[in-house]
Amino acid sequence: MRKIAYIALFISVFWSCQVQQTIVDRPIVFDDERIALTKEYLLQRYNVEQNNPEIKPTMIVLHWTAIPTLEGSFDAFKDTKLPNWRPDIENVSGLNVSTQFLVDRDGTIYRLMPENYMGRHVIGLNHCSIGVENVGGTDKYPLTKQQLKSNIWLVNYLAEKYNIDYLIGHYEYILFEGHPLWLEVDDGYRTEKTDPGTDFMKKVRKATKKFNFKPVPSK
Ligand SMILES: [Zn+2]
Repeated sequence: MRKIAYIALFISVFWSCQVQQTIVDRPIVFDDERIALTKEYLLQRYNVEQNNPEIKPTMIVLHWTAIPTLEGSFDAFKDTKLPNWRPDIENVSGLNVSTQFLVDRDGTIYRLMPENYMGRHVIGLNHCSIGVENVGGTDKYPLTKQQLKSNIWLVNYLAEKYNIDYLIGHYEYILFEGHPLWLEVDDGYRTEKTDPGTDFMKKVRKATKKFNFKPVPSK
């Protein structure tokens, strides 16, 4: 009898660990100007003309901020315009970078903007993807076990809510060049990325295998 009680206790503790995750809303500025700049970005970079900043998510992109603190990371996304934007440079959008989710080092998940609004976090694929940023990622502040757990939970949450085909690390975005989802119009607009690391991706993929996401295109 006692054995059964222990097993029941184990199961309930295990179950509560699985479901006790929550999302904390901590909105960045998403005013009329940011909405206008988002629509402008969709038009200029992707040739997509629409009267709202909404996306139909089919991809999740995991990142690290390389900024060691939550506040520093949040501040990078908070304002509407890029900090050093020069409006005189033609064809470069003034829309600030952003992400739908930001995961703190203790695993707390913050939602920074509506999940179905376009964020600016990955060249070529913002129109179809939800971004998950993780605080830290440098040698001194490697991503934590709690962040890994929260990323796995978030992928589950998103894959159950939307028709997600792809789960990728930011460093893999370049492999989508030439793919039907790739819409960036400027061949010269690329940046080299390593986040969130191959080891982190391997672990998240292993834990979310049941969703059978499509393989990342190979070059
Ligand atoms: Zn990134």
